[in-house]
Amino acid sequence: MEEFPMASVLISGASIAGPVLAFWLRRAGVDVTVVEKADAVRGGGYPIDLRGVAVDVVERMGLLEPIEAARTGTRALTFVTERGRAIASLRTETLVGEQSIRAIELPRGDLTEVLWAATRDEVEYVFDDRITTLDDRDDGIHVTFRRGAPRMFDLVIGADGLHSGVRERAFGPEAPFRRDLDAGYAAFSVPNVYGLDREAVMMNVAGRSATLYAVRNQPVTALFSWSGPTPTLDHRDTEGQRRLVEHVFGGLGWRVPEMLARMRTADDFYFDTVSQIRMPSWTRGRVGLVGDAAFAPSFRSGQGTSIAAVGVYVLAAEIAARPTEPAAALPAYEARVRGFATQNQDLATSGARIVSPATPWQLHSRNVLLRALPLLERVGVPAQGGAIARAATALTLPDAPRPAERAARSLA
Ligand SMILES: Cc1cc2nc3c(=O)[nH]c(=O)nc-3n(C[C@H](O)[C@H](O)[C@H](O)COP(=O)(O)OP(=O)(O)OC[C@H]3O[C@@H](n4cnc5c(N)ncnc54)[C@H](O)[C@@H]3O)c2cc1C
Repeated sequence: MEEFPMASVLISGASIAGPVLAFWLRRAGVDVTVVEKADAVRGGGYPIDLRGVAVDVVERMGLLEPIEAARTGTRALTFVTERGRAIASLRTETLVGEQSIRAIELPRGDLTEVLWAATRDEVEYVFDDRITTLDDRDDGIHVTFRRGAPRMFDLVIGADGLHSGVRERAFGPEAPFRRDLDAGYAAFSVPNVYGLDREAVMMNVAGRSATLYAVRNQPVTALFSWSGPTPTLDHRDTEGQRRLVEHVFGGLGWRVPEMLARMRTADDFYFDTVSQIRMPSWTRGRVGLVGDAAFAPSFRSGQGTSIAAVGVYVLAAEIAARPTEPAAALPAYEARVRGFATQNQDLATSGARIVSPATPWQLHSRNVLLRALPLLERVGVPAQGGAIARAATALTLPDAPRPAERAARSLA
């Protein structure tokens, strides 16, 4: 039986894309190291969704059970005015039209915890470190780190998010690839003093929304989201970020003053612009980008986590199919995933009209639509015309990545 040398892959980023890729590469017999700049896997964030083929990916990982168990079980999303008066209360399925596909909403931190537990024994995780230089050579890629000793790998994969360090090192500065949707958001946990149970309540005024999201017996996630040019603040400048949110939301009614006060002391405060990454190519030589680093769709698409998980599954399958030339897997992965990623990125602009109406007129039309939605659902017309369901299933998964020797034989 022919023996193949084990390929070695360095992944930057241990959130969603990084651990899913690590899992499948280990299944394929690849040697995997993950470097993460934080000192542990980061929890927190808004509840996220796995939809369509992304649910198939976690099922094939054998993780459907713990992921199902962490379901938010959100029963309804209620839209209220600044005075707290209800405009409409809808089932989430009514909004996105996903009756026809599998979908699981769960707290982002629960998903990262499940993925970490599924990979930590088999994968070398290096926390509190980051890549400083990449040197693509004939025999591999030479990597230096801020803290650790230099090492050689066959591939380096950037799974390090919207502000990817790998992208910056291999492809240059972020600005030409970033498409700002002229909006920002901030999420953090607050105690459930609202009596909410598996439901979300959203208050909109034109260009601003404040949401409370209650997940079973966990703390409530508070989310502020706004339209308008938002400066990119240094990610360490959380004081500047909090001040910006206070400036944008100061003076609003409903629960906003109390949410702002709690934001001051929240220890999982997360802030970013609502931006996409659009690149002409995600791969270069021995470097590839995945997830938000390559094709961030923004939270308005609701599909960031799903397309990240699906993309890395395809990448792992392509690497597994080419045990002796893993770099050739990168363009093959891109060719297979690009159309799917773009279709999902394009959802961000249509979704924005419902959750973030920017002008008084958009807000008024949105409210008229919300009141009509339950009726439309009864006659089978979902709010987004089923666009999310179609985009979430617009890729056929290849066979599961498996060890090199068997994959190579099946290709022969
Ligand atoms: C703490 C946190 C909270 C989030 N909250 C939300 C939310 O509320 N709503 C939403 O829509 N999306 C949120 N996201 C983004 C969401 O997780 C992603 O859109 C999606 O799941 C795709 O995941 P990803 O793994 O590609 O990127 P991300 O989830 O962004 O993960 C990137 C990972 O890379 C690490 N990293 C970054 N730079 C470097 C570097 N130079 N070297 C090493 N590691 C690095 C980060 O610490 C992080 O762990 C959040 C992400 C994080 C990290």
